[in-house]
Amino acid sequence: MSDFDRFCAGTALLLGAVLLVFGAFVAVRWSMLLGMYPALVGWGIIQAVRVSWNAPLPEEPPVPVDEAAFSLTAPTLLAELVEVDGCTRLRVWCDHCDEDHYHGPAPGHREAHCTDAGSPYWRDGYNLAVD
Ligand SMILES: [Zn+2]
Repeated sequence: MSDFDRFCAGTALLLGAVLLVFGAFVAVRWSMLLGMYPALVGWGIIQAVRVSWNAPLPEEPPVPVDEAAFSLTAPTLLAELVEVDGCTRLRVWCDHCDEDHYHGPAPGHREAHCTDAGSPYWRDGYNLAVD
């Protein structure tokens, strides 16, 4: 929980406590029915803060999103950065198709661009490592 989250939780807790006490005061002093509403709202805020304070933190993703993802089952092919029609691409030589396949410029796992289902890359694709 960040400092801002703690600040917001503390402010909400304070507001909830004020509403709860105010509701109790109104209920005792004037009307039970009228005091019940702010007291219930205050109690609800306090409960929400309590539940969120005790909630487990979200798990970190297994692979950081700012890093390339590689498949452990797919082979790794060496690719090189090239310019194609003004766009930077990764060019990889496919020894099955006997031709180059082009992909986006970031290294990592890719679906194979082979058109033949008999390609060894058909099922798991391949990882591209930049030369
Ligand atoms: Zn291919």
